[in-house]
Order: sequence, then C-alpha cells, then structure tokens
Amino acid sequence: MSGSSVDYRCVLAVVDLGAMTERVLDRAADLGARCGASVDVANVLEDMPVFLHHAGVPEELQTMWDRNTASSREHLARLVGGRPGIRGTHTVTGILAEETEALAARMAADLLVVGAHERHGMAILLRDRSDEILHKTGRDALVVKQATPEAPPYRHVLAAVDLGENGQPVVTRAARIASLYGAELTLLHVIDRFPVDRSNTLIAPEDRDPLGYEREDALSQIERFAIKAGAAHGRREVTVSARKASREVPAFAAAGGMDLIVTGSHGPHGLGRLLGSTADGIVHRAACDVLVVRLPSAA
Ligand code: AMP
Repeated sequence: MSGSSVDYRCVLAVVDLGAMTERVLDRAADLGARCGASVDVANVLEDMPVFLHHAGVPEELQTMWDRNTASSREHLARLVGGRPGIRGTHTVTGILAEETEALAARMAADLLVVGAHERHGMAILLRDRSDEILHKTGRDALVVKQATPEAPPYRHVLAAVDLGENGQPVVTRAARIASLYGAELTLLHVIDRFPVDRSNTLIAPEDRDPLGYEREDALSQIERFAIKAGAAHGRREVTVSARKASREVPAFAAAGGMDLIVTGSHGPHGLGRLLGSTADGIVHRAACDVLVVRLPSAA
C-alpha cells in the first residue's frame, strides 16, 4: 500500500459539511478517477455525551439527534448526486478519528482525503479536527487546503525527500501522482542547519568541502530514487537552509507555485502521535494540498 507504485484502490473522503466540503469531494473524486479507485464519503456526527446514555436520552434530544442524522444523510446525497464518481455515503456517529479509522478499516481504504486550513505563527500549535484523523490513521492521507470553488488538476508536485530508506516511497508515490496528472515533478532535499547538531554519518574526505560533499551525496541519492521510480525527468533540488525542513519545504512550494507537496510520515513518534514533526509542520504550514505517505514504522 503506502509507498508502493500501485495506485490507490479505495478512497475515503471525510467531510464536516462545512466550507471545505465541496473541494474535498472534488479532489477525492478526481484522484479516484485517475487511479481507477472507488470513492466513498463520510460525515461523522459526534456522539451525545456519555452521561446522557446512562441517564436515558431525553426525548427532545433524541429528536434533535435523529434530525441531525437525517440532515447529514440528505446533505451527502445532494453532494454525491452531482458527482457520479462517488460510490457511497456514510453518516456515522461517534468520535471523529475513531469512527473514521473504523470505517476506513472496514472498507480497506488506502487513502483518506480530509480538509484543513493553512496556519501561521502561533496558530501552528493549535490542533484542528483533521489533525485528529491524521494522527490516528495508519493510511496515506491527502490534506486538501484551499477552499476555493475550483480544484484544477495538479500542475506541479513537490516531493520532500528524506535520505536513506525513507526517500524511495515518497519519490515513488510523488512520481506516480505527477504522471497521473501530467504534472511537473520537483524532488527536494533540505540540508537543514537547524538544530546545529548534525549526524556524523557523512564525513567528507579531508580534501573536500564538507557541504559540497553533502550536497553531492544528497543529489546522487535523489537521482537513484528518481531512476527507481521511473522519473527520468524533472528537477532535483538540494537546498541548504537555516530553517528546518518543516518550514523550508512549504516555503519552497509557495515560492515555486507548486500545488501539491508529497511528504512521508513515520509510524509512532512519542505518545501516540502517528504524524511525525516534519510531516506535521509541512501539513500545517503549506498553502497547497499535502499528500502524507505512510512510511514503515521507525519504532
Ligand atoms: P517525519 O515523519 O515527521 O519525520 O517526516 C518525515 C518526512 O519529512 C520525510 O519522509 C520527508 O518527506 C520529509 N523530510 C524530513 N526531512 C527532510 C529533509 N531534510 N528534506 C526534505 N524532506 C524532509
């Protein structure tokens, strides 16, 4: 699934019926059609407080709840009516991330599509609902950013390429998506000088400039990933930055007019957080859509 060259087969779009909904559905339907995948859409109604279940749900509340459920179903049916590529609709009740994951598992979905907003400054630290899904799921996820009415096909894909074993799955997926859209592809590795402690794994020979040596090594690794992914053309970039990759990658995408970033994300990091910090930073700061590719767990 994740990181292989096989296309997605089963896409689940998760919508809150708010401003991003149409855009999320259009993206999911478009990508699903290009991959030959089925596309379903889900809306999760957060459950009633537990104490009400124990105490017996008051009649008015039950009526309101039934109305919410009916209205969600109608709303989804209307949305799907105009989009023949979407197969099924699901109105489920419970905790957003848990219900999404449970439904995705039942369907064997290999890609979730969710909406989110770009963040600046301190707002980066805030969580929103899509984070809950991203942190819970073990599947790839496409995070749709722009709430504009149109979703033109992706024209320029930027892959954020880590070196070592994590690079290949990201490059392979990015190359495949670029080819599905006929989009340009840029492969970017950031040599970040922040924090200052670098690993000692790359030691330049005495007569070589260490930074030049590191750049060359990164470029040749990227080239190997690209060849294996069948991406003979496209830009390869290694930038040296005082900023972390989680800042540099979205800034690079914005400056270059890229409309999709592909990033990897490791398995569990710390206390139950499934999204690593680089992927997290990229998802929050990007102005464009971000495809998070699940890498084999580093745990
Ligand atoms: P995380 O799970 O947060 O460690 O995110 C890992 C992903 O972030 C990698 O798979 C890359 O897509 C991206 N990434 C991490 N470091 C770099 C880097 N130095 N240059 C470019 N992308 C990077």
